[in-house]
Amino acid sequence: MRLNSIKLAGFKSFADPTHFQLPGQLVGVVGPNGCGKSNIMDAVRWVLGESKASELRGESMQDVIFNGSGQRKPAARASVELIFDNASARAGGQWNQYAEIAVRRVLTRDGTSQYYINSQPVRRRDVQDVFLGTGLGPRAYAIIGQGTISRIIESRPEELRLFLEEAAGVSKYKERRRETENR
Ligand code: ATP
Ligand code: MG
Repeated sequence: MRLNSIKLAGFKSFADPTHFQLPGQLVGVVGPNGCGKSNIMDAVRWVLGESKASELRGESMQDVIFNGSGQRKPAARASVELIFDNASARAGGQWNQYAEIAVRRVLTRDGTSQYYINSQPVRRRDVQDVFLGTGLGPRAYAIIGQGTISRIIESRPEELRLFLEEAAGVSKYKERRRETENR
């Protein structure tokens, strides 16, 4: 699966609707300190289901909503959409039949949160099911952030095992077994 583009609106410093196309195998984002480079990766991990505000460098989840600036009033909601090319048909579950998968998350100031896949409302875990076994998730190894390398090196054996199981494609089966056992 390949991330083709990212659409943000009202997310952190991206007050206005912003559309990033990721055309090549290698895309660099450059800009001065504080211009919003890391906010883009925060947006990606947020859509994938990150539920801990501190992982997104905030105190509460509402901190991802654009909070206003000198001339601009705060946004009422944050919305981010990731558009994946699924021509390789690697997505999990029923969404694998689609050549393109658009995953969107919206949060309003009153705390209402909703995920969508190809415009249909879904649960957070439906989003996670799409990516289980692909290495992509809010804290999975497809995103190597500052500190991730040392987190892997310093992780306890049980944590290291989770990385290896995701790389080996075992984690989605373990998740399914866990679900079946809990039914
Ligand atoms: P560096 O090069 O220092 O790593 P960066 O380009 O990665 O910088 P970010 O950390 O992505 O910068 O962006 C930080 C900016 O985002 C700050 O100016 C901060 O005020 C702004 N910001 C974060 N959350 C919000 C929000 N909710 N509303 C408005 N602006 C926000
Ligand atoms: Mg940064």
